[in-house]
Amino acid sequence: MKAHDGMYIGGEWRPPAAGREGDTIAVVNPADEQVIGHVPAGTAEDVDAAVRAARAAFPGWAATPPAERAARLAALRDVLAARKDEIAGTVTAELGSPPAFSEAVHAGTPVAVAGSYADMLAGYSFEEKAGNSTVLLEPVGVVGAITPWNYPLHQIVAKAAPALAAGCTLVLKPAEDTPLVAQLFAEAVDEAGFPAGVFNLVTGLGPVAGQALAEHADVDLVSFTGSTAVGRRIGAIAGAAVKRVALELGGKSANVILPGADLARAVNVGVANVMANSGQTCSAWTRMLVHTDQYEEAVALAKKAAAKYVPGERLGPLVNAKQQERVRGYIAKGVEQGARLVTGGPEAPRETGYYVQPTVFADVTPDMAIAQEEIFGPVLSILRYEDEEDALRIANGTVYGLAGAVWAGTEEEAVAFARRMETGQVDINGGRFNPLAPFGGYKQSGVGRELGTHGLAEFLQTKSLQF
Ligand code: NAD
Repeated sequence: MKAHDGMYIGGEWRPPAAGREGDTIAVVNPADEQVIGHVPAGTAEDVDAAVRAARAAFPGWAATPPAERAARLAALRDVLAARKDEIAGTVTAELGSPPAFSEAVHAGTPVAVAGSYADMLAGYSFEEKAGNSTVLLEPVGVVGAITPWNYPLHQIVAKAAPALAAGCTLVLKPAEDTPLVAQLFAEAVDEAGFPAGVFNLVTGLGPVAGQALAEHADVDLVSFTGSTAVGRRIGAIAGAAVKRVALELGGKSANVILPGADLARAVNVGVANVMANSGQTCSAWTRMLVHTDQYEEAVALAKKAAAKYVPGERLGPLVNAKQQERVRGYIAKGVEQGARLVTGGPEAPRETGYYVQPTVFADVTPDMAIAQEEIFGPVLSILRYEDEEDALRIANGTVYGLAGAVWAGTEEEAVAFARRMETGQVDINGGRFNPLAPFGGYKQSGVGRELGTHGLAEFLQTKSLQF
């Protein structure tokens, strides 16, 4: 795999800061455990150089007319579309996702999201009227973006596209497991003709480069996606420095199947939602809630649906050995706490590669670890409810609130239930992904929103002029 041995800073690929040459991160293909490349492990010095470049570029980019910023974003969309195959191949190599999923989702979604901001700028007004005031919407400044590995390019674009649209400049620290697609993105930004320093990339370890970026005094806003543990730390750092922060953290979303729903469809779509990307989706509906009268029928349907996810074929590996161990540990814990193993189990299904069996648990009670904690693997828990109030209590009964689904006989019934859910997104009777819909969490799933106009607003601050 192609890998740069430098950082993309100030519009060029630069060697890492002096004295640290040779410190690299090995990138491993999780399907066969082979090293496919090395990227530099950046330090606080590299982060500082990148933040300086972003700061120097900020006044010029902030003053660039929105139509010109839109033109650059449209060019970026076109480069991402033209290099779709290369992007999909890179994500398959470093994340392990099956080629069809890499093409449709990992490579396809970023094109849609970059395009949505190019289009949005055409009709967006950076000025509002409020009585005798004119409110100016101005870019926040230099953004530090820290992203995870599970949707490696989507999560970069969901931050970079609105930040650049708003007129902010950016330093990105991508996940150490998936830095190659981040380098590819930097190439795309370069090819799209953004001015030097508007976008900068520093690869490196979270506790070193990531932390240096979050702590840097000249970063105005930190936008983070990843684990709740690291999110808490970043929130504390930002709070102490009184800088803006957006946190997109974990989830434990509920897929609520009400009695009038098309049960087979609700279960099949629900299983597919959990198994996609090997379960490494923060918004995955990992808890399926079924009425007691339909419970065993749903369990049998889920077992059948899960059988289609053959490891090494439709089901990819997990990203690394640590995640594989973590997920296997959760499966063992589910058995230990008394859940009924319908299919799957903790044993690794293949000798090579970080694979986990597609696993379905029944008789899961709301207090079990597998019903409360984010597993981040291909593991579905099916819970039983007695009536709607019971279903609502269970659905809302976690510290998270990122996404969810409701299936019912009528749309009205599903919407009435969705209104009572403590969560940031709900799919109604199988509603499709919408790149314009705000995405983000209630409760401990996070702070702030990504995508659409709400995602753009995260990177703007207001100035009121009174007349
Ligand atoms: P993580 O939170 O450690 O990593 C996410 C990003 O934060 C990476 O870029 C990492 O380098 C960086 N980071 C790590 N420590 C940091 C620090 N001290 N300061 C600044 N940046 C830091 O996540 P992980 O260890 O890769 O995954 C662990 C668990 O997190 C998963 O099992 C899953 O439950 C959850 N997770 C959630 C999401 C999501 O989309 N919400 C994504 C990835 C992981």
